Amino acid sequence: METQLKALARLDQKLASIIYAMSLISFDSLTSAPKNSLEGRASALEGLSTFYYETLINEETKVLLDRLKYQLDELDAANGALVQILIDEYEMIGHIPAAEYATFEALKARSSVAWEEAKEKNDFSIFAPKLDQVIRTVKKFVAYRNKSVHPYEVLIDDYEKGLTIEKADAFFDNLRKEIVPVVKAISESPTVINQDFIKKSFPVEKQKQFSEYIMEQIGFRMDSGILAESVHPFTMNLFRDDVRITTRYMEHDMISTIASTIHETGHAIYEQNVSKDYGHSIIATGTSMGIHESQSRLYENKYGRSYPFWDMYYG
Ligand SMILES: [Zn+2]
Repeated sequence: METQLKALARLDQKLASIIYAMSLISFDSLTSAPKNSLEGRASALEGLSTFYYETLINEETKVLLDRLKYQLDELDAANGALVQILIDEYEMIGHIPAAEYATFEALKARSSVAWEEAKEKNDFSIFAPKLDQVIRTVKKFVAYRNKSVHPYEVLIDDYEKGLTIEKADAFFDNLRKEIVPVVKAISESPTVINQDFIKKSFPVEKQKQFSEYIMEQIGFRMDSGILAESVHPFTMNLFRDDVRITTRYMEHDMISTIASTIHETGHAIYEQNVSKDYGHSIIATGTSMGIHESQSRLYENKYGRSYPFWDMYYG
């Protein structure tokens, strides 16, 4: 068992290192990489994802995971979770031919650049062919897994363990019942709220200062992360002591900037609070996309859009 746990730890470190490198490349590409870096980056990502694939998908790992699978009861919670995640990951990508898996990573890098350009020029036709390729590839990958259910059923479970189309439909039906009448009542109301005061010009430099101030105020550890700028705000967690967020500054829409900053800070604080005990393992991150979004929304909507919050910070 001890030998197997050592092998598991080695595998974990290798995979976490590759993910770390790929994440940094992605963060760089979305924040500061020069325009002409695309092909070099796509090639590097293709190489790294080949390395990731070969590190995980091989006979040695398969034997290791097969053995540990039957000893889950004897493992501590962290190792148990790690084994389960690796088994799921193995199942997810093991049926995909290595070359196709790696090419997909390069395709995503190219798509991301096309999307940025399309967004900037407000022209979907720039992004559409790439998006089409991405969707075709994902469908093909799902087909390789040979599941007898609808492809979306497979994908929804990849992103949110245990969620099904049926459960998601019931959830959204419920939301629709409550939300649609509220939106209707607001849009049909004769009351017009004067929003001029938030549409004034707010210098970007001041917004930057205010964003950093608010991040620190609500609990972001400033020495364990950074705030950068991107076309669309996002959070990139490398590990608990390096969680990077981005925001987007709009001179005449300060509320949008601040809401984005608070939202991403919510994601980041969740990551900064991952237990130190998990070290730099691949398990040292948020548990699912749904839980992650609950944290960002808690900060953005419950705190950032509340009266007490602005009573405190408006001045
Ligand atoms: Zn979010």
